[in-house]
Amino acid sequence: MENSGKNKEIGLLVVYTGNGKGKTTAALGMCVRAIGYGWKICIVQFVKGSWKYGELKGIKRLDPNVELNVVGEGFVGIIDDKKEFSEHRQAARQGLELAREKIASKQYQLVILDELNVALKLGLVERQDVESLLEARSEKQHLVITGRDAADWLIERADLVTEMTEIKHPFQQGILAQKGIDW
Ligand code: ATP
Ligand code: MG
Repeated sequence: MENSGKNKEIGLLVVYTGNGKGKTTAALGMCVRAIGYGWKICIVQFVKGSWKYGELKGIKRLDPNVELNVVGEGFVGIIDDKKEFSEHRQAARQGLELAREKIASKQYQLVILDELNVALKLGLVERQDVESLLEARSEKQHLVITGRDAADWLIERADLVTEMTEIKHPFQQGILAQKGIDW
């Protein structure tokens, strides 16, 4: 039986998607594990403001292993969004280019693109731009993409895909976001 390469280190393309809570948390959990090996990790956050005090402060404590880049222009299309779609688009495209450079630099064993699925779904970035970013990966580099509504082609291409399913969320009972758990 063909089993050569069984223990070979191979960079995985990981997607955390679905409506249930835990996508960003899962990516951060992977980050903590990677730090155990002294790896360098780069996070690009595609929606400014989606990361809260807890994780922003927490990530700072992981410095210099973890580099966080915030590239979005805030939430798109909700009530207090006063920005033009083109501004969101430009920010997301710059973010993707930054992510591509970070990946191509080969300095990071793990790269996390938080909420990229949402940027793709909203049409802020194009499929071919994400594909060219995937091409920039080296053989051993792990890449994690999070966010609801992952594209079918990305799911097809990924090695590991987990869909978070909402079974219960405190919000359904009117319980608002909790310190240390949600922010
Ligand atoms: P987390 O950052 O907690 O892992 P997530 O990345 O899975 O959540 P997002 O879609 O990024 O979820 O949503 C961001 C915010 O919305 C988080 O603060 C999270 O607590 C909250 N949230 C996530 N899922 C749900 C849900 N099913 N119902 C209500 N709020 C949710
Ligand atoms: Mg998230």
